[in-house]
Amino acid sequence: MADFDFDLLVIGGGSGGVRAARFAGQRGARVALIEQARMGGTCVNVGCIPKKLYSYAAGYAESFAEAPGYGWQIGHPPALHWDILKARRAAEIQHLNGIYEGLMDGAQVTLLRGHGRLTGAHAVELSSATGERRALTARHILIATGGTPFVPEFPGHELAVTSDDMFDLPVFPKHLVVLGGGYIGCEMASIFHGLGAQVTVLYRGEQILRGFDDEVRAFTAEEMRKAGVDIRLNSDVARLEATPEGGRRLTLEDGSQLQADVVLSATGRMPKVAGLGLEAVGVRQGKGGVIEIDDDFQTNVPGIFAVGDVVGRKTLTPVALAEGMALVDHLFGPLPGQTARRMDYADIPTAVFTHPPIGTIGLTEEEARQRHGAIRVYRADYKPLRHTLSGRGERTLVKLVVDDASDRVVGLHMVGADAGEIVQGFAVAMKCGATKAQFDATIGVHPTSAEEFVTLRQVSRA
Ligand code: NDP
Repeated sequence: MADFDFDLLVIGGGSGGVRAARFAGQRGARVALIEQARMGGTCVNVGCIPKKLYSYAAGYAESFAEAPGYGWQIGHPPALHWDILKARRAAEIQHLNGIYEGLMDGAQVTLLRGHGRLTGAHAVELSSATGERRALTARHILIATGGTPFVPEFPGHELAVTSDDMFDLPVFPKHLVVLGGGYIGCEMASIFHGLGAQVTVLYRGEQILRGFDDEVRAFTAEEMRKAGVDIRLNSDVARLEATPEGGRRLTLEDGSQLQADVVLSATGRMPKVAGLGLEAVGVRQGKGGVIEIDDDFQTNVPGIFAVGDVVGRKTLTPVALAEGMALVDHLFGPLPGQTARRMDYADIPTAVFTHPPIGTIGLTEEEARQRHGAIRVYRADYKPLRHTLSGRGERTLVKLVVDDASDRVVGLHMVGADAGEIVQGFAVAMKCGATKAQFDATIGVHPTSAEEFVTLRQVSRA
């Protein structure tokens, strides 16, 4: 049997790569992980974590505005110190980078700094920042390089920033224009609006958040608009120019113009595969460059595997983590007493941290109708208790989609405070195949928004 330097060599220190390396190390495998930038990948450095911290920061603005309704007299108008927020976020992220490095140490994973490039089915060349090259071999290679923002080509596109840049903007924008109405565009729009920017979203289609339940999309757009975000549908940029004052001028496809301090292109993400040597080794790629894998995460080249955003199945951190763990069980076996994990992509819960946030599991109403034919929809929208005194007109939407034949809840959707927190527990119930009758038999927690899911009795649509 060939003698390799490592049993597993991981390229990429993000969610999927770190989890796979750590779990393989815990099983006694000889593991190395290559990372050229800060540990933790997109999620830790320029994604989920800083985004959620800034979402909390934006939430304070809402609380300040609501507080007088609860009898609070606020002496001075609250003001955001952007530099303080940035510095505190940066310190926390640096702390997390250190934790990730510590995790590698703890699992006896060799952390290698530099860029990894495939040179064979079991071979990688590591190039360090100082230009040194080192040849490495491994029984298994895992590509977990994640994704990177995609910016479409239009005149002046290089003047737009991406989500990678948003957390450290040198000057807080008075007017932000967001291109794209997906997860990132909508989250950034809500967050920067909450932090004090005037925000305009330009979305090329009929409604933001394509892929989500249609009612959820319309409801979220309406609530974001009520909060003050200017969402323009069927609208796209034709040209972007710098103004002499250092701002940005957008010419839209209908010929109208807009001024902004910052233009964010939140127009999707693509797999980060440049310079990986995929073509040289013959690793097959699919649409948009995603690495094609089989059910065991193996590419068409035996010995080379891939997980996470670079395979683009569901580009979510918890999915990358689960894929990494399932791969390690497949390659090295489960821990004693445990059964090997398999990846199941059904009923993956997800949240969009707009204000108000969205929480969703399973099928949209439209998908359920297609898949199951006869369905029952139970829904309610209401003013949450909090806003009876807060003075805000924000409403909450809860919605269940039920397969009529089996009575199973096949879709669960919420737009409202804490939606992400609330749907997580219901995701367990749905994984267990919960029926509407079982939801009905569950006692609510009063007074909460979550209880609405177990008190929906009236069929809204069949
Ligand atoms: P999305 O695919 O969600 O959204 C991209 C947006 O850009 C869409 O509105 C899309 O329009 C638009 N767009 C794409 N290409 C063009 C173009 N050429 N011109 C104009 N508009 C364009 O991608 P994101 O980057 O927002 O997010 C990527 C992924 O990251 C998400 O799908 C999600 O999996 C993950 N993510 C998860 C988060 C969470 O869990 N909370 C947060 C952020 C990201 P159209 O709909 O017409 O294609």
